Amino acid sequence: MRQVEFRKKLIERLIEVTGCSVSTRRGPFPKSEENVVRLTGRHFPSYVDESESSKKSRKCAVCSLKINQNSKRVLRESRFECKNYNVGLCVAPCFEMYHTDPNL
Ligand SMILES: [Zn+2]
Repeated sequence: MRQVEFRKKLIERLIEVTGCSVSTRRGPFPKSEENVVRLTGRHFPSYVDESESSKKSRKCAVCSLKINQNSKRVLRESRFECKNYNVGLCVAPCFEMYHTDPNL
């Protein structure tokens, strides 16, 4: 193997081992792990950080699972989010629902 190729492989391997590519452990999580984190972790609503995103509000993750009378997805924006989980959520009732309902 040529030197350059070897180094590339080595770096790729290092990233795999140390997990450098996922340096910040924030959502989305894999489904099984997701439920555990979602239902047992500590979560607090916080304002959507205006400096972090260009938008001042985010789509609510719970509302977007619902279907309205016209069988269209409910798109509701919320100014609040779960920081730990990195999802937009209405403070009530969606925030509580999201962290207590295992079927979501
Ligand atoms: Zn909502």
